[in-house]
Amino acid sequence: MDSIDVPKTSAWSRIIMHADMDAFYAAVEQRDRPELRGKPLLIGMDHPRSVVTTASYEARPFGVGSAMPMAVAKRKCPQALIIPPRIGYYSTVSQQIMTEFEHFSPYVEPLSLDEAFLDMTGAQRLFGTPHDMARALKQEVFRKVQLRVSVGVACCKYVAKVASDLGKPDGLLVVEPDDTLDFLHPLPISRLWGVGKHGEGLLLALGLRTIGDVARSDPKFLVERLGSLGAHIFALSLGQDPRKVVSDREAQSIGSEDTLAVDVRGYEAILPHLLHAADQVAWRLRRAGLIAHGVRVKLKSASFKIHTRQAVLRPGSHNADDLYAAAQTLLHQFDLREPMRLVGLTAYDMRDQQLPVQEDLFTSADRRKRQNLDVAVDSLAQRFGRGTVKRGSDLH
Ligand SMILES: [Mg+2]
Repeated sequence: MDSIDVPKTSAWSRIIMHADMDAFYAAVEQRDRPELRGKPLLIGMDHPRSVVTTASYEARPFGVGSAMPMAVAKRKCPQALIIPPRIGYYSTVSQQIMTEFEHFSPYVEPLSLDEAFLDMTGAQRLFGTPHDMARALKQEVFRKVQLRVSVGVACCKYVAKVASDLGKPDGLLVVEPDDTLDFLHPLPISRLWGVGKHGEGLLLALGLRTIGDVARSDPKFLVERLGSLGAHIFALSLGQDPRKVVSDREAQSIGSEDTLAVDVRGYEAILPHLLHAADQVAWRLRRAGLIAHGVRVKLKSASFKIHTRQAVLRPGSHNADDLYAAAQTLLHQFDLREPMRLVGLTAYDMRDQQLPVQEDLFTSADRRKRQNLDVAVDSLAQRFGRGTVKRGSDLH
């Protein structure tokens, strides 16, 4: 069949874009402080319990990366400069970036401060081909904030995310629908979403090394051996991922979780990861104009068992400190003898910020005091970086 007259974009059932800032926190510091450009940076507190939130591209060849304990990163890259993060300030920059994304699509799903999915289906008339859309987004972001974003475009979320990752840094990779399998199949199984180190070991033991190997295997066999993970990765290996782009305002819950570079054991070691997650989730709640009335902590152990504990948050909040305090209390309910490989925090039972919240007089007065304190802490953190403002809970 001859298809000369059919433009290539006609094969796109959906156009999903994944946009991910390159080494976001480090890039912001290098933008603002020229003396840091070209230098290996570790963004995080210089503290034995701290973790790296971002490593600059100059530091990455030494094998350091985000979610790694600072102590380990310092050993691997002793010449790196350690820069305390300015989370409040990064949130402000992030807000500018997300606003820019929203000029391109009404359907923006932030995954963190520096990363989002955009549903661009039907936007060809406004922006041209998927390649044109991605280029325009990159240019606009750079024009507004002088930072580089990597963009992947594909028919589904999973392939778009892989495409933005592979293009980094300053990437622009469009996977045409007809090329999806050619793109995915040579990639190693570690590129399958949700596989992790443990799943990788299981797949390698079955003789499966590439995504193509998974696609060519018998799905019944995969489910027998791997359960629901088998069905999940078989679908992904065929480029099938029907999940929609859901904005935070429409979502049932907002969560943030990190698979850690090194497993952590014990209450103290888990706390910095919960604090980081609380910052991310609180920022997304505020952005969406929502208050959460529930907090859930999720831990995945080194032996791949998932444990969750949740609690009602009363009154509701969109503050990092409130979410973190609730998470700290929840953490006491877990059996923490096993090392953990993933730490996550989710806010649920979200309501509109405008809705009146029932509360007694004492709580109200108390809350007002807290809110005033939060504003003060936020503005100090923005001016001097979070490290200069110690939370009460950090002092003992
Ligand atoms: Mg990023």
